[in-house]
Amino acid sequence: MKAEIVSTGTELLLGETLNTSAHFLTGKLSSLGIEVDYHTTVGDDPERLEQVLRQAIGRTDLLVTTGGLGPTADDLTKELVAKVLNIKMELDPYSLEQIKQFFGRRKAPMPLSNEKQAYFPRASKILPNPIGTAPGAIIEKNGKTVVILPGPPFEMTPMFDNYVWPALQQKIEPDTERMNERVLKVFGMGESAIEEVLGDLMSLPNLSMALLAKRAEMHIRLVARSSKMTFEKAEEVLNRAEEGIRQRLGNKVFGRDQETMIGIVGQLLKNKQLTIATAESCTGGLLGAALTQEPGSSGFYLGGVVSYSNSLKQGLLGVSEKNLMKYGAVSEEVAKEMAEGIRLKAGSDLAISTTGIAGPDGGSDQKPVGLVYVGLATPEGVQAEKIQLYGERESVRQLTVQAAMNKVRVHMLAYERRLQLGDG
Ligand code: AMP
Ligand code: MG
Repeated sequence: MKAEIVSTGTELLLGETLNTSAHFLTGKLSSLGIEVDYHTTVGDDPERLEQVLRQAIGRTDLLVTTGGLGPTADDLTKELVAKVLNIKMELDPYSLEQIKQFFGRRKAPMPLSNEKQAYFPRASKILPNPIGTAPGAIIEKNGKTVVILPGPPFEMTPMFDNYVWPALQQKIEPDTERMNERVLKVFGMGESAIEEVLGDLMSLPNLSMALLAKRAEMHIRLVARSSKMTFEKAEEVLNRAEEGIRQRLGNKVFGRDQETMIGIVGQLLKNKQLTIATAESCTGGLLGAALTQEPGSSGFYLGGVVSYSNSLKQGLLGVSEKNLMKYGAVSEEVAKEMAEGIRLKAGSDLAISTTGIAGPDGGSDQKPVGLVYVGLATPEGVQAEKIQLYGERESVRQLTVQAAMNKVRVHMLAYERRLQLGDG
């Protein structure tokens, strides 16, 4: 099956919005073994959109569109798909009721223009949208399938996963080439070091392995690919590869696929019912922001202090004047005092601190830009790690957050192990 993705929206052509939907959809279609031949992006212009849709429907088996399902006059995707396929538009009373209820929950009357969102090409399979007002649709005609999805990615991606994925899975021939994918995420090791350690694992049969460098992480992308390979067989190949990689890289592997460093750290803290607090200097609140990124963070994060100035480090955290004078704010001693200080103030089990020189100014020979100390206070004591980072100010700050999170992760893994051994 051959597919084509048409992304609509003038904002995509103005460089305002990055077309993340095409990226998402291409990944999903590829993993189903559906070949994506074209990505086309077109503005909210009826003539150009009609032309693009006509061309796409003419040359592909499966067309997936995103955007243009809004209530306004420039949202025309459904209408133009109907025109190109020569199908009439019809009101779907159930969708109209859903849209009315959407406004009802917000205690607002439904604007008349939203009624348009309940019209679909006749005989569409309508895809509900619990998050917004624009339902999607799957339309079949003359052996062609058109999938119409909303623009906002937070509405589009669950609609795809819940309705489109299962529908497409049914359409795929049983012996289509399978491509099962898995990503292992590594912190604290570079590309060449990983390659060296993995060595022979990099060239296993039926498996391709690629290393992708991200800002603070390395991703190992595994793809099991072979025609006639069943889903289960492909998963088996991936499981074996994952096991081998974990054996060699140990706890440098922090997660896989959708897992994130912060998600993993949060889970580890929640599992052991431990709390954490933060004292931040060079990260200016980014660490707190990262820890509160996901719902449920109140279960482990108590809060923190952004103590950028020395006076706040002293006043709020009890950092000693002596250490500030003797070692400076960016030092192991101050990082430790910050972590201990916030742990006491917050009454948390753990506390993490950051102090460093984010740059571009403020560096010296002894303390170059990118020098960071991350402190960790626990019931067993306090320690601080010296880290030398490289890059722009924003990179240094983001990498500091990741390094701090990783420090908590490694501590938690050791703590779990001690508990398992029975001397925790
Ligand atoms: P629409 O459904 O056309 O009203 O799209 C609404 C919003 O969704 C736009 O303002 C964009 O911010 C976002 N959006 C639309 N298409 C895309 C896309 N391909 N990738 C990422 N965001 C998108
Ligand atoms: Mg739009």
